[in-house]
Amino acid sequence: MPIKSIYTLAVHAGERGPISPFRPVTTSIHPSVGYLAPSMEDLDAVFGGEREGYVYQRYANPTVNAFEQAVAALEGGEAAVAYASGMAAVHGALLSALMTSGRRALVSASDVYGATYAVQAGLLSQLEVQTTFVDITDLNAVAEAVSATKPAALICEILSNPLLKVADVPRLAEIAHSAGAALIVDNTFATPYLFRPLEHGADYVLHSATKYLAGHGDVLAGVIVCSAERARDLRARQILLGANLGPQEAWLALRGLKTLALRLRQQCANGQVVAEWLAAEPRVAQVHYPGLATHPQHELAGRLFGSRGYGGMMSFALAGARRADIFRFMEALELVLPATTLGDVHSLMLYPAHSSHRALPPEMREALGIGEGLVRLSVGIEDADDILQDLKQAMEKI
Ligand SMILES: *Cc1c(COP(=O)(O)O)cnc(C)c1O
Repeated sequence: MPIKSIYTLAVHAGERGPISPFRPVTTSIHPSVGYLAPSMEDLDAVFGGEREGYVYQRYANPTVNAFEQAVAALEGGEAAVAYASGMAAVHGALLSALMTSGRRALVSASDVYGATYAVQAGLLSQLEVQTTFVDITDLNAVAEAVSATKPAALICEILSNPLLKVADVPRLAEIAHSAGAALIVDNTFATPYLFRPLEHGADYVLHSATKYLAGHGDVLAGVIVCSAERARDLRARQILLGANLGPQEAWLALRGLKTLALRLRQQCANGQVVAEWLAAEPRVAQVHYPGLATHPQHELAGRLFGSRGYGGMMSFALAGARRADIFRFMEALELVLPATTLGDVHSLMLYPAHSSHRALPPEMREALGIGEGLVRLSVGIEDADDILQDLKQAMEKI
């Protein structure tokens, strides 16, 4: 029907033109919330779960799907579900494991990301889910906790934050599975460039894609990779709970992924140089980096990660430094940015005691080795010499 009214034209003109057979080379951002099915029967079949299709953005979105497929391929998994943040992915995996198993217990590494600790010790404990926190490097303690509490899941980070303890994923998978528990591995620090947990027995791999996967510090995102069956359960719960990744964010994260290997190659090389320099520096009391022969699990890290290196994350303590000394040191940095994130192209430093681990009681922080003088460094893709010069000049100012 011919339309002449400016009211109607303003709404509809130019929209929904014919789809060209010439396809764009790169993924498009699809902001549309709603979709038009080829026929009402098709729409009916999608609602009935009889065929795949797009109906509404909380159910699925083509740009988000492209990001999910890319991460699933990199992690070697059947399927992936993207989330609005890493924490949404953490709670998505925990909730799915708890609900599908019917169990009301979890076993967690004691030095997980502060918010992951708080979700378990606070939020889930209010829902009467009991979490037992264990030193993930003490496999006997892990096995004891798992067999005593029969948890829905055992959760750990591949490299702990900020002490870079290495989780022995193959052994942890055996322990979890012997008690019918799922193994959830937060692979944020290693990325699939260094390690693919699903190939070593993990049931869920999750990422704060905000960090290395997206890599540029300009998007908040999370993702879980797992079997197609587990992904269906995650998706069904996400449709209800709605912590979906938006298409603009998915597009940015997908763009970031393209340079993951190039960035990590440089970050692993820089990490090794910076850690070795710190280890030889008299003003530094301790360096935690899995690529150093002095790291207690250097050998395990080499076995799990292969020859590509040990990543870009490390932490170190300045000799005799108190909180105020660390504050002056971080303020004196000119290149390394004292910002609360990691895994970006630029180098970043964070003070765990007042940020990522603030939610932990101070006694627990001390017991874990996260003292007043400890800082965490995320090495970027800059020239290693420039990073060293900056650390050196800032150390001279305290
Ligand atoms: C940042 C981070 C999270 C949380 O991710 P957000 O994207 O900030 O929600 C979880 N685990 C690890 C290891 C992280 O570094």
